[in-house]
Amino acid sequence: MKSLLRPLVDAGYSGVKMACADGFVRRVFPILAAYVADHPEQCLAACCQENRCPRCVVEVKKRGRPEFSTRRDPASALEAMKDAAVGDTEDFTHLGLRPNRPFWEDLPYCDIFSCFTPDLLHQLHKGVFKDHVVKWATKCLEGGADEIDRRFRAMPRGSKLRHFQKGISLISQWTGTEYKNMEKVFLGVLAGPAEPGLIRVVRATLDFIYYAHFESHTLDSLRKLDAAWVAFHQNLQYFVDKGVRKDRDNFNIPKLHSMQHYIESIISRGSADGFSTESPERLHIDFAKNAYRATNKRNYVKQMTKWLERQDACFRFSAYLQWTVEGYNSELEGSLEVKEDNEDGVVGDDEDGDEDVGEQAVFLGYSVAKLPAYRNVPITDLINNYGADDIITQLTTFLQNSPLTSRSARAPILTSTLSVYKCVTVRLPPAPQVTSSVTKDVVRARPFVAARGLVPAVAAQFDTVLARESAEEDGIEHPLDGEFAFVPPSISVADRSHAQSQVSKFVRSVSSSACLKTMAASPIQWRMSNGLLLFAIPYQSSACIKSRDLPAISADAPRSFP
Ligand SMILES: [Zn+2]
Repeated sequence: MKSLLRPLVDAGYSGVKMACADGFVRRVFPILAAYVADHPEQCLAACCQENRCPRCVVEVKKRGRPEFSTRRDPASALEAMKDAAVGDTEDFTHLGLRPNRPFWEDLPYCDIFSCFTPDLLHQLHKGVFKDHVVKWATKCLEGGADEIDRRFRAMPRGSKLRHFQKGISLISQWTGTEYKNMEKVFLGVLAGPAEPGLIRVVRATLDFIYYAHFESHTLDSLRKLDAAWVAFHQNLQYFVDKGVRKDRDNFNIPKLHSMQHYIESIISRGSADGFSTESPERLHIDFAKNAYRATNKRNYVKQMTKWLERQDACFRFSAYLQWTVEGYNSELEGSLEVKEDNEDGVVGDDEDGDEDVGEQAVFLGYSVAKLPAYRNVPITDLINNYGADDIITQLTTFLQNSPLTSRSARAPILTSTLSVYKCVTVRLPPAPQVTSSVTKDVVRARPFVAARGLVPAVAAQFDTVLARESAEEDGIEHPLDGEFAFVPPSISVADRSHAQSQVSKFVRSVSSSACLKTMAASPIQWRMSNGLLLFAIPYQSSACIKSRDLPAISADAPRSFP
């Protein structure tokens, strides 16, 4: 690692010229700022024992408690290691260090302890959720694993929901997608037999996971992330009361403790999704699993290498054709994409496709099939088979208020007939916190179809829709509505004095309400871009701010960067 990062030493001190995306060449001072690794490797890089936190100096037994500890400091760690080498081991023991030559000691401006970023896949999905909370919750529930499996099997199917046909206990290999699919329905699985205490702790866990996944944050979302973490700890006592864990100190688990550092890391390094090991893990499938499957399973390393070389050659040639031949559409593109392993009984519940119209078109609004699936259905059937109990009242009100209704029209009665569609596809605008693309929601309503000959019966399916009629409803501001800017830490300099006065003013105004303890300090850069105001406050104290909260910008403000 030391030799790998050696070029960073000089570059960090004297800078290197780099071509930027806008075409300008700038002198850049690259430093080591993030280190993506699992817990044992983090401890190795931090030169600490594996039963200690690589970020802070929390005591071994207190890792399961919601108590903050001082963050590790590179200078003290190096000092303690030097002292230990000459026999003074007091600090060395106190900090839980282990003898190891740190690769980062010569790197400029490197605080390795703050570089350890959250790992959503291993820490939250696999660690906290699947390995711990699900296991503990299963023990608390009457009937245990069998009951959980039964409830997973009984879950109604829905668009974008995976149906666990055989439950979850038989699944031996989990992928990130499966954890996420399980999280979507787990609270629903528990609803009913679970006690309120269990629901509270599971809900807090899921809230934390979902907020931690945001691609961009506001002070509100960070506050909610923090609230979820607090609620999680407040409700952990439930597992102790149920005898699943011995006592409150029995939650001394590294992954559980790591949740404590999420907000700090998001503020200083950006949203956690950027550091998840999910993408590199995905390469296991492309580069190892698929390659292995292509071999005859004997002397496979050589065959796998050959296979990968050939894939690479095909891709390069295909990219070349794409570039050189006008109108050429590379068939190879995405051929490495394989479907998730479904061998363990996890069955995807894809759309029927028969009514899913306008798949390619990306527009907002809704779409339905050209023709209704069921024609001339009497209203009595709609009441009995579709559960539309008050359709006559609602339809009458609608027709009375519609300007298109003719005066001679008769009010609907039980024997009137209507044509009925099976599903409607709604396209919602992108939610900037989680995705940059349009979200497609399929709402289905179809009655039970009895078996006919060899054709099996089809269960009824009615999706629940929650709709907000107006964004400004009751004047309540929804915390995640509206524009916002995420502010990455940055070290360039432009018009310092002006920026400092403007942004300090703002920071003072929000710091009282902010959940961030490290606000304030002096900001060093700002600019207007596409209507968003971006600015940076030096390391550790940057914040996410809604643009509408920002102070008015005076006419002499700098409009762009040099
Ligand atoms: Zn810690």
